[in-house]
Amino acid sequence: MSQLLSGKTALILGVSNRWSLAYAIAQAFTREGAKLILTYQGDRQKRTVEELGAELKAHQILPCDVTKDEELTRLTEELKSQGAVLHSVVHSIAFGDLSKTVAQTSRDAFGVAMDVSAYSLVAVARAVAPFMPPKEQGGGSIMTLSYLGATRVVENYNVMGVAKAALEASVRYLASDLGPSNIRVNAISAGAVKTVSARGVRDFSKLLEAAVHVSPLRRNTDPAEVADAAVFLASDLGRGVTGNILFVDAGMQIMGFARSEQ
Ligand code: NAP
Repeated sequence: MSQLLSGKTALILGVSNRWSLAYAIAQAFTREGAKLILTYQGDRQKRTVEELGAELKAHQILPCDVTKDEELTRLTEELKSQGAVLHSVVHSIAFGDLSKTVAQTSRDAFGVAMDVSAYSLVAVARAVAPFMPPKEQGGGSIMTLSYLGATRVVENYNVMGVAKAALEASVRYLASDLGPSNIRVNAISAGAVKTVSARGVRDFSKLLEAAVHVSPLRRNTDPAEVADAAVFLASDLGRGVTGNILFVDAGMQIMGFARSEQ
């Protein structure tokens, strides 16, 4: 069977555990023949990500807290010292305090959510772009993970919805800025999936239930489906796609009011 990412190197940020969407993406990229470089945030996660990386046969595991410019600089210095070439980069990172409504969110909490969940894509894109092949050799693909709360009010998603709106706008501007270098920038808007980050959304289980009753496919999103969409965007099959928000959510985003009967 052909391997869609054979000969390509991918940097994946955001593998935290087996439930992480980034882990599913890393599994799919390995299946398709990509050489992986993974990052982790802080010493707390080092061992877990190293263990997962070993299972995935990752080429390298490097530290990177995306809120620290010095860590991004260290990452690029390490890549430079190896003469690394990156064909794709997956940004699967978010953090915010979702315990308050947007109206009650403090300046600090708003800033943290925006910094970690939106600005970090800009910082990462700037850091990795010089490692992507020149345009005549195909350029590269950068992708991030978003959610419906960027454009619709989803109860309890709160400040993360605002951050995802900024993230999606950043995808479009970055796609325009980097397009002349044939670097494509896209987001996958995933349906609700039970992960550690998702636990920060109050009554998250209601979102999972709603998808089963309301989404056109009448089921939840499987992380493997998100991962296969990521393979498409990273591969040559996605070569004409940039600045796009690709929904992988069992169709949930097209629905208006929920049905009263199932
Ligand atoms: P996850 O496993 O908790 O992944 C979130 C990742 O962000 C973790 O690896 C976390 O690292 C990392 N992170 C947070 N702050 C960071 C920082 N300062 N520097 C570097 N890494 C940092 O949860 P997930 O659901 O897979 O989330 C991945 C992405 O998918 C997020 O953007 C999320 O918003 C998006 N998404 C999720 C869903 C869903 O329903 N699960 C739906 C749509 C979109 P630590 O573990 O070390 O903190």
